Amino acid sequence: MGLWAAVHAERLGIQALLVEAGRFGQGASGGLLGALMPHMPDKWSDKKQFQFDALIALEEEVAALEAETGLSAGYRRAGRLIPLPKPHLRQIALGHSEDADVHWRHGERRFHWHVLDAAPVEGWIEPSLAESGFVYDTLAARVAPRALLKVLCKFLAGARHVRIAEGVAIDGVDPERGLARTKDGDIRFGRCILAAGHRSFPILDALTEGRKSSLGQSVKGQAAMLKADVDGGLPVIFRDGLYIVPHENGLVAVGSTSENRFEDPLSTDGQLDDLLAAARAMAPALAGAEVVERWAGLRPKAVDRDPMVGAHPDHPSLIALTGGFKVSFGLAHRLAEAAVREAADVAGCFKLPRTFTLASHISVISHKS
Ligand SMILES: Cc1cc2nc3c(=O)[nH]c(=O)nc-3n(C[C@H](O)[C@H](O)[C@H](O)COP(=O)(O)OP(=O)(O)OC[C@H]3O[C@@H](n4cnc5c(N)ncnc54)[C@H](O)[C@@H]3O)c2cc1C
Repeated sequence: MGLWAAVHAERLGIQALLVEAGRFGQGASGGLLGALMPHMPDKWSDKKQFQFDALIALEEEVAALEAETGLSAGYRRAGRLIPLPKPHLRQIALGHSEDADVHWRHGERRFHWHVLDAAPVEGWIEPSLAESGFVYDTLAARVAPRALLKVLCKFLAGARHVRIAEGVAIDGVDPERGLARTKDGDIRFGRCILAAGHRSFPILDALTEGRKSSLGQSVKGQAAMLKADVDGGLPVIFRDGLYIVPHENGLVAVGSTSENRFEDPLSTDGQLDDLLAAARAMAPALAGAEVVERWAGLRPKAVDRDPMVGAHPDHPSLIALTGGFKVSFGLAHRLAEAAVREAADVAGCFKLPRTFTLASHISVISHKS
């Protein structure tokens, strides 16, 4: 999120400094999956419209940055396959298909929630696990997380208005005095955008009076990368929290666990082995595939589950940019743009859903007993 904020600051000609405690990508964003999964097309809302617009805009954003940097972000609108093991799920999917026809439109472009008897590609997904057919959604995409970070960093390396610094940890923020504390001295700011992933929550908690619980928590996730003889253009497979995401060069990411309790935030264990077994059963092409990396990270989950963006109601010079939880990659560019425009008092080009604002999350914890 922070890198996207820096990109928008640069585009708007805002003098900014982006600091990172360690190395860029050492947090949740430096993972393996990069699935860009639309919400269900039913029960349409401003949140779903926001995500839809963001998913469409990302394609152009990535293409522009790739052209400027000469690097690839490993982006592809590959679609998504969801097996339907029971007849009633097919009925529900048919309803979603009609919803997608209504809502998944952008100008002349149409995206679909097809309900099919057989998968559109042979030999990828195990047919016996889909007795009632498949959903094939043509909106879903994927991006290679680390490749995208490289693109963003390269763009910023050539920036004229924004400076970036690794190895600078912020120990505390004093918004009234416009100071961010580091062990090597204070950094002065006019506005501060806080995009420290799950570590943003304790900083925001310390500044929020009258709260009855924390503004957010970290949720651990484990994932793995396999090397297989698999075409990177194949659709992402999704079922019950299991994602199988084909990337370029025969790499296939498998994820993710979702753990509210954990001892070691960055270790992997038997839960990942179970996920890998499920993935190999779902996609037989992965049966003998070598595991080239096991990885774990902490997602930032805000108290009201939605992203958390915008000025602190009591400390307006501090702007939150966190809480992307499981869908950050498809939203980060837009959330960051909203945060930067708010910080710079520049009118926004789109409206942020009200429940995404920091003020909305604070009102939720203020009313909790
Ligand atoms: C296993 C797993 C799979 C996932 N799969 C997907 C997926 O397929 N699609 C998707 O959209 N999302 C996915 N996510 C979620 C996504 O990765 C996160 O929501 C997202 O990366 C959060 O981005 P962020 O910038 O808010 O936080 P981070 O990427 O964690 O970045 C925060 C940065 O702030 C730095 N920092 C922290 N504290 C300080 C400080 N005090 N001073 C200076 N710097 C500091 C950290 O070092 C870190 O680099 C997944 C997450 C996990 C764990």
